[in-house]
Amino acid sequence: MTPVNNAPRQLLRRLHSIMAGAGSAEHRLTEVVRLVASNMIAEVCSVYFMRGGEILELFATEGLKEDAVHKTRLRVGEGLVGHIAATALPLNLSNAQKHPKFVYRAETGEEIYHSLMGVPILRSGKVVGVLVIQNKTQRHYMQEEKESLQTVAMVLAELVASGDLLDPQEQQEATLERAATSRFEGMVIAEGMAEGVAVFHEPKIEVVKHLTDNIPLEKSRLGAALKSLQNQIEDMMSAEDMRHQGEHREILDVYMLFAKDKGWRSKIENIIDTGLTAEAAVEKVQLNNRARMLQMDDPYMRERLSDLDDLANRLNRHLMGLVKTAASEDLPDKFILVAQNMGPADLLDYDRDKLCGVVLQNGSQTAHVSIVARALGIPMVGQMGDMILTVADGERVIINGVDGVVYFSPPQEILQSYRENIKSRNVLMAEYEALRDKPTITLDGIEVELLVNAGLSIDMDGLKRSGASGVGLFRTEFQFMVSESLPRVGPQAEFYRDMLDAAEGKPLVFRTLDIGGDKPVSFLKRDDEVNPALGWRAIRIAFDRPALLRYQVRALLKAAENRELNIMFPMISDVSEFKMAREILDKEVARQKKRKSPLPKKIRVGSMLEVPALIWQLDNLLPLLDFISVGSNDLMQFFFACDRENPKLAGRYDPVSPPALSMLKSIVDKCNEYDVPITLCGEMGGKPITALALLAIGFRRLSIAPAAVGPVKMMIRSLNLAEIEGYVTGLLSRSDHSLRELLTAFARDHGIKI
Ligand code: PEP
Ligand code: MG
Repeated sequence: MTPVNNAPRQLLRRLHSIMAGAGSAEHRLTEVVRLVASNMIAEVCSVYFMRGGEILELFATEGLKEDAVHKTRLRVGEGLVGHIAATALPLNLSNAQKHPKFVYRAETGEEIYHSLMGVPILRSGKVVGVLVIQNKTQRHYMQEEKESLQTVAMVLAELVASGDLLDPQEQQEATLERAATSRFEGMVIAEGMAEGVAVFHEPKIEVVKHLTDNIPLEKSRLGAALKSLQNQIEDMMSAEDMRHQGEHREILDVYMLFAKDKGWRSKIENIIDTGLTAEAAVEKVQLNNRARMLQMDDPYMRERLSDLDDLANRLNRHLMGLVKTAASEDLPDKFILVAQNMGPADLLDYDRDKLCGVVLQNGSQTAHVSIVARALGIPMVGQMGDMILTVADGERVIINGVDGVVYFSPPQEILQSYRENIKSRNVLMAEYEALRDKPTITLDGIEVELLVNAGLSIDMDGLKRSGASGVGLFRTEFQFMVSESLPRVGPQAEFYRDMLDAAEGKPLVFRTLDIGGDKPVSFLKRDDEVNPALGWRAIRIAFDRPALLRYQVRALLKAAENRELNIMFPMISDVSEFKMAREILDKEVARQKKRKSPLPKKIRVGSMLEVPALIWQLDNLLPLLDFISVGSNDLMQFFFACDRENPKLAGRYDPVSPPALSMLKSIVDKCNEYDVPITLCGEMGGKPITALALLAIGFRRLSIAPAAVGPVKMMIRSLNLAEIEGYVTGLLSRSDHSLRELLTAFARDHGIKI
């Protein structure tokens, strides 16, 4: 039989009586360090708290010299204690003096201790102190001991929250000063402009009571809270704009799965069994999840972590009866939500008539909350950094979710100019809207086809709203990126069928999986690549893992039953790769035929042109396919050897330049020679000025973001194409770094609306 370790339970029981007992906060603190040292058989237990100016001060110790209390101070980042505070992660060392961050403090008599284990004391996700134990021997502390120390740290955070130890004023001091008006630059996550009043989203719930002696009560509270959490998610799912299928809906499905997960519940119950309240147990389980998931390099997993944080926090709200307060208290009529990070369900809690925009300290393009914001058309700017924490509730905010700029408390002139901007943007939007059903034709009668790029089911609304003539690029990888496991043929087919239905007979081009590189999926283990854009991605993965492509093609064939299927392959580098991909398709078609399964009425097969090498193989490639789609995002990054994701290089090379336009023109000319339809589907087609350059060198079909259709169409309808064709062709032999200015001047002089 395994021996039962009663130490953690005893520790909790004693902790309970110290916290409930009499005496000052300092006295209780001293009792706690004594208790921890004896219970964990450590020679030293010390607790440091954060003071203003990011200083950690020794508040109590058992084992170090008593004189050092309130004298030993370390900066955040200094020494091992400072390191724990800076990283907010536990440290477990059998020989602490060998750690590069070790510093020696004579006043503590520290030199004789070898092993050290420390954990951060966290409150609302911020470090407020550090709790450490030390031993003379080179001891290896066990996982269980670390968990006990973390539990004590949680209880100590409670002591800080009481305000008896540190003046609450002082607790605020660590925050940074900032000028009255702040202009922040961040990353556009969801486009749009908005003005409103800052409302802090404070999702992290402070657990105020950690210890219990009524375990059955805590378990039944947990059961009730889980039930009401499930009901809440169900309500969200039935909200008007969440009812139809799509990724935003799938996210809530995953939430529900977790909320009903027996494993999660039993982990929480096991911790309640050790004497913690339900709230503290939820926090503890989440702490363990965090520690595990943070060790994974995978950005996908990290994003799932914020969903789990959100869910745990939400469960705690239910436990504390705070369900409605976060989002439904009296909020201003127009508000901008400010948050460190938030989960998608958090966003959905807010009244959408009042919520105008979101500003995040962190945030990323692929996080679930970002997908939901884009789906609902809520402007969102992320990656704003720490200064955002200095913003106060009620400050006026402007979000420019086009350039990624956010103003807090803007002066009157800026406010005025943005209000005008927002107004004229609205006017312009109305003008684009009016063009929706008008033909896309130049003044001299040349027809241009505008298609949209899509990847989410919500983008299909964009197809309708923009009046575009079809989908020129459907990025299928998204369905795979939000999925925990490889989507099976059935659900894939269902999704593609929904997309075809949503296109209402307009052509839709599916691009097969372009995963890898910067598009991770959870079910495929990847190496750390030095150059992921040049690495194992897209069709290259498909050749090494042919089942992936086979199943996807099978799903596409099923979905397009009796309709036209347009399919293209990404990152084709030479003719043989196209042939191999096509072979996989042909085999699947043969399989369907053999089984007498229905097939598409017609199949058109194309290739993306993203790799420059393919340009010199067009004579061999073009006779084999039905269409070409130029992926200018990748093509330009390979052409200029310039990473498209590197902000330091953004704008360094211009596709509106003689070399890039000459290259593109040679592709168009070749396709015309072989009478193969060509589309350009990179970002380049989406700005009026770059689209103008593309039309001038011969492109007649562009696939762009739904929001770009209006502006590009307006430009096309104001253009006399014959005039600009000759002009641009003449510029191609020049040596200018960019032709943008010349082209802009030409457009202004000729009344072209760019
Ligand atoms: C491109 O490379 O231009 C393209 C359209 O593909 P993606 O942006 O998905 O790589
Ligand atoms: Mg590409």
